[in-house]
Amino acid sequence: MTTQKEDFLNYICQTSPYPVGLEIDHAAGSYLYTTDGKKYLDFISGIGVNNLGFAHPAVVKAVQAQAEKYLHVMVYGEYVQRPQVDLAKKLVSLLPAALNQVYFTNSGTEANEGALKLAKKYTGRKKLVSFEGSFHGDTHGSCSVTGREIYRKPFEPLLPGIQFLPFNDVEALNAIDDTVAAVITEPIQGEGGMRVPDEGFLNALRARCDAVGTLLIFDEVQTGFGRTGKWFAMEHWGVVPDIVTLAKALGGGMPLGAFVSSRDIMTTLSENPPLSHVTTFGGHPLSCAAGLASLQVISDESLVKKAEVDGAWLLKRLRHLSQKGCGIREVRGKGLMIGLALETAELAAHLVKGAFEAGVILGWTLHTENVIRIMPPLTVLKEDMESGLAVIEKLLSPS
Ligand code: PLP
Repeated sequence: MTTQKEDFLNYICQTSPYPVGLEIDHAAGSYLYTTDGKKYLDFISGIGVNNLGFAHPAVVKAVQAQAEKYLHVMVYGEYVQRPQVDLAKKLVSLLPAALNQVYFTNSGTEANEGALKLAKKYTGRKKLVSFEGSFHGDTHGSCSVTGREIYRKPFEPLLPGIQFLPFNDVEALNAIDDTVAAVITEPIQGEGGMRVPDEGFLNALRARCDAVGTLLIFDEVQTGFGRTGKWFAMEHWGVVPDIVTLAKALGGGMPLGAFVSSRDIMTTLSENPPLSHVTTFGGHPLSCAAGLASLQVISDESLVKKAEVDGAWLLKRLRHLSQKGCGIREVRGKGLMIGLALETAELAAHLVKGAFEAGVILGWTLHTENVIRIMPPLTVLKEDMESGLAVIEKLLSPS
């Protein structure tokens, strides 16, 4: 008789030699409960997905109600399905006016694939520009524009004609010229170490794209839906992209992504030839029903404002801690998207491992060894933030 853990290691493809390996029994609010009776405070929201915590009753109810009506009925874009239509309308109401038509996908990487293809088809140009330290997903196109060579190299040849520029460097933007179809960037780099650009960088990027007729794509897969204390991170700088890509928290815990643009640009996908970008499951009715319920809760419970207030409180507490000489180089972020840059990778590992043993889930950011991600659910209770902080403070206190 094999154990569940042994079967997991044998039958599930492993993405690293050191999986966390928690055996989940159930999850509710900000907590995961394991089969051995322990509970863990999730301070990373399943990597930016569970803005409402786990299994929010409104989302569960919406999924149950939709499951009783219909699941899949037809490939995307053929039949009129209320969950898709209602969610698209709600999304458009939350976004700047120019972003008014939605294409649903299953994931963030597919949203980026769609956005890149759309930009190439609309402009008739072939080149793409991205930034060092970016992460856009793991399918071929998204991997091609992900700004870290070790993750691209094993899969080459990838897409040709891609140039990487340093993030947050206004001078470097002059390299964008009228042969470039699109520039893709996260408004705040997540996997690059929670890097918030300086004032003016995204505005300069917008201006440069306008000057040379290049489309600007914002990847808000990780930053969207209140995470940074605004509905979308672009609002911090008042910069509107031509296309925005979304996923993670969009589906309220169900798989869902989207790219959103103007009707004029989106029309490109319905002609010359028609059906040139299709998906079977994108915008699944269960995911859209969950997504709509989740957006409703974010609105009703003012969670965007809560993220701003809680985030400011957490940043202040962490910055206070950083002044105590405990190995914190920088505390950065916006809202509840916070990065703790530590002096060394060893200290980062000590913190993540120690927190885990104390029942708090923290995590690295993919491209950095020393920046720890703090992204609790937007619904996190003050007492849970206090207990998470207490664990961090204890582990970083000079002994
Ligand atoms: N874009 C960003 C900014 C992300 O953080 C991620 C995932 O972490 C993705 C795209 C890829 O999303 P998915 O894993 O849903 O394909």
